[in-house]
Amino acid sequence: MSNDNIKVGTKAVWAGEKEYLVHGATQVPVVLSVAYNYDDMDEWYDVAIGKKKGHIYGRNTNPTVQAFEDKVKILEGAEAATSFSTGMAAISNTLSTFLLPGDRIVSIKDTYGGTNKIFTEFLPRQQIEVVLCETGNHEAIEAEVAKGCKVLYLETPTNPTVKITDIERMAKAGRDAGALVIVDNTFGTPINQNPLSLGVDLVIHSATKFLGGHADALGGVVCGSHELVEKIYHFREINGATMDPMAAYLTLRGMKTLHLRVRQQCANAMALAKYLQSKGLVEDVYYPGLETHPNHEIAKKQMKDFGGMLSFAVKGGVDTVRDLLPKLQFANRAANLGAVETTVGPARTTSHVECTSEERAAMGIPEGLIRVSCGIEDIEDLIADFEQAFQHVENALQV
Ligand SMILES: *Cc1c(COP(=O)(O)O)cnc(C)c1O
Repeated sequence: MSNDNIKVGTKAVWAGEKEYLVHGATQVPVVLSVAYNYDDMDEWYDVAIGKKKGHIYGRNTNPTVQAFEDKVKILEGAEAATSFSTGMAAISNTLSTFLLPGDRIVSIKDTYGGTNKIFTEFLPRQQIEVVLCETGNHEAIEAEVAKGCKVLYLETPTNPTVKITDIERMAKAGRDAGALVIVDNTFGTPINQNPLSLGVDLVIHSATKFLGGHADALGGVVCGSHELVEKIYHFREINGATMDPMAAYLTLRGMKTLHLRVRQQCANAMALAKYLQSKGLVEDVYYPGLETHPNHEIAKKQMKDFGGMLSFAVKGGVDTVRDLLPKLQFANRAANLGAVETTVGPARTTSHVECTSEERAAMGIPEGLIRVSCGIEDIEDLIADFEQAFQHVENALQV
């Protein structure tokens, strides 16, 4: 069977592992060795110059790490993938591979907080012009891209207000302008969305989130053509933001259940979003699966399901957030997302902690915004948990 005919769940379980199995083991080994032994000097040389397959030194390649890269690559339908110590390393190394002083990059205002810092703090320091457009304003992005740029960088859905950008339309705009189009697919996951099939050049994941899924390993990965990924790999192997083999193993293991987890997370997010819409204390619910979401139709077109992330704004702002969140029994109040446990947090302490309240306001992020990363719990328990927490806050308001 060719890979094209195999369904995504089967790929999540089986893909990318076979060639790394040894001693008849059914699981990929964690190879901790930093270096590799060669008796044959000619073979050593051939591997070192990339003429022959093999490994030389752990900063460059490692079998466990490669198995992880292969699985992601197959799930994203890419020719190649290379991995990193974190998602931010994947983003910064990829941008540094292609951007030089004098270049111009177009992106959106709502990218992940760390990515936004690269755009506002670090790239300008290297004389790289950064243009951040209103997220969701496709015409504005197209106009800026048409003026010429080296890179068009997108994230969809975005963190934390889950805004949607039309990937296919933006890929065309980028292509017409000769720009490299990069999409951060962390929120989308390869289960719900494959940006490469919509025409983009590179897809990035924070593997720390949904791919690993258990909040116990950091990692990042970028997928695309052999040619582009080879360049990024070269930057990373020299600059050294290499993924750790143990993290690669944990993420690989997590990915075997990616399709099951994401399916349950999407169902939970949809049900929780609808429940939150019915609550008097809730001002707004942000979830691309809701018909009230401004870009619901685009989401429907480019995503198989709407993802496990949602956010909502409460009346009373920070004070309500402070009362509500500690009452939740089945949610970690933490900065992470994409894990099997439901995780909640205000944008001001999670995704956008690096920003000032003025900067957050300019990005349309209310101080009373709560981000929810739905876990795989039973939805009845999640809703009951939110219900008792709301009751507590409502009762306190009445006395
Ligand atoms: C977390 C996250 C990142 C950064 O990943 P790390 O693994 O924490 O470095 C990048 N993009 C998005 C959308 C994220 O959620």
